[in-house]
Amino acid sequence: MDNTTSPLYIYNSLSGKKEAFKPLNPPFVGLYTCGPTVYSDVHLGNVRTFLTFDVVFRYLSYLGYKVRYVRNITDVGHLLGDAAEGEDRIEKRAKLEKLEPMEIVQKYTNGFHDTIAAFNLIPPSIEPTATGHIVEQIEMVQRILDNGYAYIVNGSVYFDVKKYAEQHKYGELSGRKIEEQLEQTRENLEGGDEKRFFADFAIWKKASPETIMKWNSPWGEGVPGWHLECSVMSTKYLGKEFDIHGGGMDLKFPHHECEIAQSVGADGVNPVKYWMHGNMLTVNGTKMSKSLDNSFLPHELISGSHPLLDKGYSAMTTRFFFLQANYRSTVDFSNEALLAAEKGYKRLMAAIKTLDNIRASDSSSVDVNKLIGDCRNSMNDDFNTPVTIAHLFDGVKMINSVADGKNTLNQPDLDRLRTHYQDFVFDILGLKDEDDAGESNVTLLDDVMHIVLDLRNQSKQNKDWATADFIRDELKKLHISIKDSKESSTWEYED
Ligand code: AMP
Ligand code: ZN
Repeated sequence: MDNTTSPLYIYNSLSGKKEAFKPLNPPFVGLYTCGPTVYSDVHLGNVRTFLTFDVVFRYLSYLGYKVRYVRNITDVGHLLGDAAEGEDRIEKRAKLEKLEPMEIVQKYTNGFHDTIAAFNLIPPSIEPTATGHIVEQIEMVQRILDNGYAYIVNGSVYFDVKKYAEQHKYGELSGRKIEEQLEQTRENLEGGDEKRFFADFAIWKKASPETIMKWNSPWGEGVPGWHLECSVMSTKYLGKEFDIHGGGMDLKFPHHECEIAQSVGADGVNPVKYWMHGNMLTVNGTKMSKSLDNSFLPHELISGSHPLLDKGYSAMTTRFFFLQANYRSTVDFSNEALLAAEKGYKRLMAAIKTLDNIRASDSSSVDVNKLIGDCRNSMNDDFNTPVTIAHLFDGVKMINSVADGKNTLNQPDLDRLRTHYQDFVFDILGLKDEDDAGESNVTLLDDVMHIVLDLRNQSKQNKDWATADFIRDELKKLHISIKDSKESSTWEYED
């Protein structure tokens, strides 16, 4: 069966080609994804990118790799606008909400965790924070300075892009040509910038007296540059050279380009073997973005409260909607597409229920192995989820035809097909049957309440009125009311 399966190919943004995946140290795989800047609620566009790498994580694990997945939390250093002049996003928000910067960090980190749990994303193996790695960031700045790729101006340290570009390729990831940038230098330097060259970027930024989050360093009090934290945290936990680095397409330049330059500048090592970039969620063709005011918060989608929505859509419908597109294509938000996704998702879940109830025959009239091979091949083709979903729908037709008695499956094929849907739909695509979750919780509550009421009846028989009343009063606080009759007690949930 495996003979028909091709090896995994990953589209590497660095080469612009699909490349056979060869981990540096199999069976271990290091996967790093840029996490959120926790100064506001994550929007659906952010969710899309995190979901892309959730599926990468899930599929690599399915293939048997031991994946260490690192996704950071940016809790300092992400400045607004130009890194040289901008204000820290978290501090700005803290002033607005009249909270401590670290309260903002905690609030939006909690919100981020709740959101991605609702979309059934698996937590990463390590979730490091920028503020937890200040010492390592200062050390990296020092190494870059020692190697001559940075300079100090007035308490800030800038990466010397021009010097770096003389000896290394700068711009190879984003395809930006340094020569073109050099021509603009003169114009951009007029304005009294501290930078020698407009493409230089701060790796350590002097803090103003009113800045709250700042640290001592050999160059005075300051904050690390945003690009630095990812270089430090990825290589600390995955090694100076590691397998996969992911993020949204918008991070290619300057963020990821700067990460490469920093690692080469500090340690002489090109850090990443495969760069993966997810494309954007758009609204009427424009990137969904907090600053453009076209962003949807996940709860606005689920409740349907956003003005652009006709109705609400569940987290699993949305997950399915994202997976129906290739991660390298843009996805444009639309009510029609979400409605179609809702239908598709329900049809898939219904077919899995049908599959559970199918009875085996003596022989099979359908080719289960081909279906399994097709799904593996499409996932091996750079995690092509839309094609995989199309194959799963071929399987839906197969399942329904067997249920209708037009085709047959023997026991081994039936078992294989059930395992396949479990693996691909639930474990790899990460979908959940929302109906099931609701129903099984109701059944569980029913069973638990049966035990509670039995205990209460026993205490009444023992004339232990205090315990009986305690159980009734505590349940009341949970909006569960008990009705006693002579023979038995029943319970009811009050909305
Ligand atoms: P941020 O918190 O702004 O650093 O963004 C977190 C992640 O979401 C990054 O990987 C971004 O590339 C990604 N992202 C931001 N906007 C969108 C969007 N409209 N569609 C998809 N991904 C996005
Ligand atoms: Zn990053």
